[in-house]
Amino acid sequence: MDLHNIVILGSGPAGYTAALYASRANLKPLLIIGAQPGGQLTTTTMVENYPAFPDGVMGPELMDLMRKQAERFGTRILNREATKVDLGARPFVVEAEGETLHSRVLIIATGATPNLLGLNSEQRLMGRGVSTCATCDGFFFKDQEVAVVGGGDSAMEESLYLSKLCSKVTVIHRRDKLRASKIMQERALANPTITFQWQSAVEEILENETNEVEGIRLKNTKTGERSDLALNGLFIAIGHRPNTALLSGQLHMDEQGYIITENGTKTSIPGVFACGDVQDHVYRQAVTAAGSGCMAAMDAERYLEAEGGA
Ligand code: NAP
Repeated sequence: MDLHNIVILGSGPAGYTAALYASRANLKPLLIIGAQPGGQLTTTTMVENYPAFPDGVMGPELMDLMRKQAERFGTRILNREATKVDLGARPFVVEAEGETLHSRVLIIATGATPNLLGLNSEQRLMGRGVSTCATCDGFFFKDQEVAVVGGGDSAMEESLYLSKLCSKVTVIHRRDKLRASKIMQERALANPTITFQWQSAVEEILENETNEVEGIRLKNTKTGERSDLALNGLFIAIGHRPNTALLSGQLHMDEQGYIITENGTKTSIPGVFACGDVQDHVYRQAVTAAGSGCMAAMDAERYLEAEGGA
């Protein structure tokens, strides 16, 4: 049996930073890249709030740099998705698309996934006018009219990005007050291409005869009044849920499925550490995820030392 010291699940800022620190501690970590290589930052454009980049850095480029830095110190990267995890076994067992791995320590850095509205039409029209990623799909709506659902920073960011490509961007928000940070609100509110449809919920996505989005039916959340808005694209930006399905029932999580960590990055199972968005629904920033990835590697190193043999 090939026994690893540390297997890291996930390749966002948390996973790569954990890998960087663990590899520099000579622990030869193996990082399983997961369903979305590079994590959520690969679906964003300019990142302006990651320290040391005074002119900003593109999300995919930042993740590429993190990967290279982790690899430079000996992190091995497995371009697969973990398909099963057994936290009851010692060593821990991870299956990754047919390959079985054994590890003394696991670092969970699987991140979070965008939420959807829950409409049948949304699933059916995903990729046919419905999207959760403006950076990925905005180009398809060049000079067309689109809407963005949500009132948080993600919705503002998506709207601002789309305003550079599209002829009109309507932000659909269920309340009359945005949740987004002041600076993002101000930018979006001042943008002439962006308009706001307040107190509105998307009740239905309307499609044409070729099964592509042609509009949305809105319901006023206060009056119940309905109205239709013609558009070509609908971007959903209403938050995220943690990627913890593989671990369900195996360690302590909150009611939303975020892993509960204590004393740094310790989970309810000794030897299992969690970092990044999978255990953080408050800060959710690349820099906080990276910081907690560092903590997870240091916690893991101490755990292995205490166990002996690290
Ligand atoms: P968020 O802050 O949780 O905001 C989600 C938004 O979606 C809220 O306005 C919420 O409405 C709305 N919403 C939720 N469920 C909905 C539903 N079923 N139907 C309609 N609307 C719904 O999520 P986020 O914008 O993804 O941001 C997450 C975190 O990342 C935040 O901490 C944010 O600051 C950070 N972030 C930062 C940046 C940046 O600084 N550049 C960019 C992106 C994200 P209510 O307001 O009514 O609850």
